[in-house]
Amino acid sequence: MALNEFSLIEKYFSSLGKAPGVALGVGDDAAVLDISEGEQLVVTVDTLVAGVHFPHNALPSDIAHRCLRVNLSDIAAMGAQPRWFTLALTLPDPNEDWLRQFSQALSDDAELFNCALVGGDTTAGPLSITIQLFGTVPKGKALTRSGAQAGDAVYVTGSLGEASAALSLFGIGDQIVIDHEVEREILLQRFYRPEPRLADGLKLRDLASAALDISDGLLADLGHIAKASHLGAEIQLEQLPVKSWLKALAEPERIKEWVLSGGDDYELCFTVPQENCSAVDALIEQGELSAVCIGQMTNEPGVRCFSFEGNDMQRSLVNIEQSGYQHF
Ligand code: ADP
Ligand code: MG
Repeated sequence: MALNEFSLIEKYFSSLGKAPGVALGVGDDAAVLDISEGEQLVVTVDTLVAGVHFPHNALPSDIAHRCLRVNLSDIAAMGAQPRWFTLALTLPDPNEDWLRQFSQALSDDAELFNCALVGGDTTAGPLSITIQLFGTVPKGKALTRSGAQAGDAVYVTGSLGEASAALSLFGIGDQIVIDHEVEREILLQRFYRPEPRLADGLKLRDLASAALDISDGLLADLGHIAKASHLGAEIQLEQLPVKSWLKALAEPERIKEWVLSGGDDYELCFTVPQENCSAVDALIEQGELSAVCIGQMTNEPGVRCFSFEGNDMQRSLVNIEQSGYQHF
């Protein structure tokens, strides 16, 4: 017998709801969730559409990982703790193989990141997945984009450019040749399984003045902090965290584009008041935070890139054309 909507939900999605605070999960008209006094809800939603946000032939497990993780990344950027999520699933047909793999991967990540599926909606149509994620944060402690001050240092976590390089593996943009299977795999993982910087977000809650996750490209996203904070920013290109093996994959101009304007890295970009920089640097030195300082916030609007050129190590302004991914 073909799977109907209700047996599909029961079979694949009713068991992913185990986490504290779920008074009523999947199965009723709506979920009921407990939040404590002194906490605020932090809510985000992202939709992934087949052929737009991932290739039509992407594995169901990869789609599940990516869809939950891009939402987790937003919660991380707010300095919040993920708690619960809903799933709106539009499927061309109720393919059981697809559903089994999708729900297993979703279940694995839900457990890994301590959040529970509490409801959703299931409809027929072109493949599209929407996850809405709810997190909590102590009242007034959320990290926003608007808190930066001139003189604050700008940091980014992890490394940049790999997810963007992965797009060339899907035939988007110029092709690159990758000889090593390991590197190819790392790029694909960076695209499909971005690492939400949840622990970093929590550590930065009392140290950073502003934060966001890099989904549209460093320049565009740092530009969002600058604009929201009524400031500008300057960064030093040599300080950007780029894996040396990535630099070997393409021409320097191309790498620069991946690192500065390529989206999908889901690293955090955050600003730190000078008085907190030593505490942040100590976390970095102790290996508790993987981040580097790449520049500072300024009063001059816009994001400006500097580079050391020639032998005299003079800083010079670099003109960068592109400014990140835009849907429309
Ligand atoms: P209603 O018509 O009242 O909106 P639905 O038939 O859409 O109810 O859903 C029944 C229950 O199953 C609800 O609790 C809903 O949250 C849950 N649900 C539906 N689709 C999903 C899904 N893809 N993942 C998780 N829960 C779902
Ligand atoms: Mg419904």
